[in-house]
Amino acid sequence: MSETAGSRERGTGNSGTPGAGQQSPVASDQSSRTGDWRLATDGFRSVVFDCDSTLVAIEGIDELAGAKIEEVRRLTDLAMEGAIALEEVYGRRLAIIDPVRAQVEAIGRAYVEALVADAREVVAALLWLGKEVRVISGGLRPPVEAVARVLGIEPGKVAAVDIMFEADGRYRDFERDSPLARSGGKPEVLARWELPRPALLVGDGATDLEGRSAVDCFAAFMGVAHRPAVAAGADVVLSAPTLAPVLALASSTDERERLARSEWAALLARGDALLSDPAA
Ligand SMILES: [Mg+2]
Repeated sequence: MSETAGSRERGTGNSGTPGAGQQSPVASDQSSRTGDWRLATDGFRSVVFDCDSTLVAIEGIDELAGAKIEEVRRLTDLAMEGAIALEEVYGRRLAIIDPVRAQVEAIGRAYVEALVADAREVVAALLWLGKEVRVISGGLRPPVEAVARVLGIEPGKVAAVDIMFEADGRYRDFERDSPLARSGGKPEVLARWELPRPALLVGDGATDLEGRSAVDCFAAFMGVAHRPAVAAGADVVLSAPTLAPVLALASSTDERERLARSEWAALLARGDALLSDPAA
C-alpha cells in the first residue's frame, strides 16, 4: 500500500525522525500501534474530543443556519482555518441566524444522527478502560450535551457555550464570557480541568490545534473535514472517516491486552490498521 496523503504529515514543525516512514508500520505489534509516529508515551489517561466534524459529521452552526448557510459557513471556515478570530464570528453568526429554542434542540437530534463511525464504541471502550473522557466544543451547550449523553459522558465533563432564550423561545444571547467563544479558549478550559496525564486531544479545527499546548498530544481528525493547516501542526493525523484509531492511539500496552480479550478486540484491530495506514 502506498503512503497516503495525510498519514505522513505529522509534526512538520517538530518531527525528529525523517525517513522513519520508510519502514513498514505493520511489521510488529509494537510498530502497529505507534506506526512511525514515535509517540513518547504509552497510551493516554485522558481523551478529550471536539464535537463538530470530530464526534459528529456535521457543523451544528451550519445546520442551524438553514437558508443563511452560505453567509454563516464563510465565517466558520475563516475561523477554523485561523484566518480570523473566533470571537469575531461567534456573535455575528448567531445574530444572523437568530435561532429559536426548538431549532437549537433539533441540532442535538441531528448531531446524534450524524455521529461519526465508531464514535459510540470508541467512547464506550475508553470509559470501560477507566479513562477520563471529555468533550470540549465551541458549539452550543444543549446540542453538545445531547451528543455527550448518548456517548455516556456526563454534562459535568462537557465544555461548550451556553445560549439563552426569551420565555417564548426566541433567541436572547449567548455566553459572551465563555472562553470557548473566542480564540485561545480551548487551552484555557483544558488547563482548568487538570486532566489526568498524559492527555490526548482529538479535533479538526484551528481552535483544537490551539489546545495542543495544554495536552500531551494533539490528533488532527481529518475524517470529516480536511484542514491542511491543522494537520500540519498536529502530532498525529487521523485521515480515515472513523474514530477507531483513537482507541488504538489512546491505549497502553496493558490496556491493549485487556481490549484484545474484550468485545472491543475487533475495533482495536481496525483502529491499529488505520493508524498504520489510513487507506487500509
Ligand atoms: Mg470541530
